[in-house]
Amino acid sequence: MNTLLDGNRVRDQILEELRPRVQRITHALGRPPGLAVIRAGDNAASEVYVRNKTKTAAALGIASETLTPPESVTTAELLDMVARLNLRADIDGILVQLPLPANVDAQRILLAVHPAKDVDGFHPVNVGNLSTGRPGPVPCTPAGIIELLKRYEIPMAGKRAVVVGRSDIVGKPVAMLLLREDATVTIAHSKTKHLPEVCQEAEILIAAIGRPAFLGAAHIRPGATVIDVGINRLTVRAEVAKIFGADSPRLAAFDEKGSVLVGDVHPVEGPREAGAWTPVPGGVGPLTIAMLMRNTADAAEANLSRT
Ligand code: NAP
Repeated sequence: MNTLLDGNRVRDQILEELRPRVQRITHALGRPPGLAVIRAGDNAASEVYVRNKTKTAAALGIASETLTPPESVTTAELLDMVARLNLRADIDGILVQLPLPANVDAQRILLAVHPAKDVDGFHPVNVGNLSTGRPGPVPCTPAGIIELLKRYEIPMAGKRAVVVGRSDIVGKPVAMLLLREDATVTIAHSKTKHLPEVCQEAEILIAAIGRPAFLGAAHIRPGATVIDVGINRLTVRAEVAKIFGADSPRLAAFDEKGSVLVGDVHPVEGPREAGAWTPVPGGVGPLTIAMLMRNTADAAEANLSRT
């Protein structure tokens, strides 16, 4: 018997716990926690993500506003926008939705967000806080992964963890968090040699690669906990049939919608080999927004102690 790690269930739990906290903070501050989201340009996926974030915020009683500068926005204009939000007392958290338009210097924009309002945890000050064990916002997807493991009581201390992927957004911070939980952590990437053997050592395997169904039976130690961060959209029917099988309901879903999502872990081999696993969709994804709400509440609460 293996365990499906249900991200939707854990997200609902976290949001329910946050609700009275947001009410307490609102009462104490005399205003709701405030979240500003900058969504620049016309990225359709970003639009969906941001809509989900602001909808969740509204349902919790967090005041959110979305700024939508056009694709043609300049780095200077965005810096100015961020500077204004940094100064606003009613804004506790600022989120710059990535990717930014190609002509914008994304690093400069992320650096401009005040570290105390950096609810994505991407500012180098907060990266430093994380790696030196100081308090501060932690990137939402990695924080959600640790929360999921804790709530399913999957021990991390002393366990061998392998993280495949070394991005600043997922791979590196999740590795740092696993280390903080006393796991023995290996980070693998595209230059790693003998990847299947490295992954086979993992009692906890985190896939954050961005390649459909890339990790399969050869990579998974039987009984391991497998966390699939990948979100890949398949648009070719033959590929869907090859990965999910010709009789799979996902193929029927593909025929209806023209695309389906798959993670970085093979969706048939992963659950077969793993002791516990996250589905895609419905695993890690839902937790990202929940942790953003928590980071926003934390930022507002920190403001409270400063007033
Ligand atoms: P990324 O910045 O593209 O990083 C991908 C990482 O995978 C890189 O470190 C890369 O290695 C490594 N990699 C690529 N090919 C590899 C190979 N053949 N063998 C081993 N490692 C390989 O991606 P990301 O932003 O971390 O995102 C990863 C996935 O998670 C994507 O599917 C993304 O959509 C998804 N995601 C989901 C959420 C969520 O809320 N669930 C949030 C963020 C991201 P190098 O560094 O050597 O190039």
